Amino acid sequence: MSVAFAEARAAAARGEVPVGAVLLGPDGTILARAGNRTEELRDPSAHAEMLVMRAAVQARDGARLSDCALYVTLEPCPMCAAAAVHFRVGRILFGAYDPKGGGVEHGPRLFARRDCLHRPETIGGLREREAATMLRGFFRDRRDG
Ligand SMILES: [Zn+2]
Repeated sequence: MSVAFAEARAAAARGEVPVGAVLLGPDGTILARAGNRTEELRDPSAHAEMLVMRAAVQARDGARLSDCALYVTLEPCPMCAAAAVHFRVGRILFGAYDPKGGGVEHGPRLFARRDCLHRPETIGGLREREAATMLRGFFRDRRDG
């Protein structure tokens, strides 16, 4: 999770929304790490989770991620949650809950749907206060700036 936080801080320094993610393989090695790059890449889908899932599957020659763990500082949005189903992510561990934009514990609650084809195991609220404080600080600075 510390790596995900470091990626979130690096994203903030680039002027991106501070969300960071890291994908760990079955033996705990880092397959991919990234922060949001939507501004830099001019790609609204370049969320940290999308970047690490894509990179990890490529690093594994196309193997799906059912034996891998995705750590991310914020509850994944519906797009990333749906992608995690396609990538067959085994576990998702996230920091802050996102009542407005989340898709796991809020909104569509994708993994709780009966027609969901693959349900990653999820754990939310890891270092929640730290994750929420970082996001609030970023948006406050943006408003004031
Ligand atoms: Zn997302």
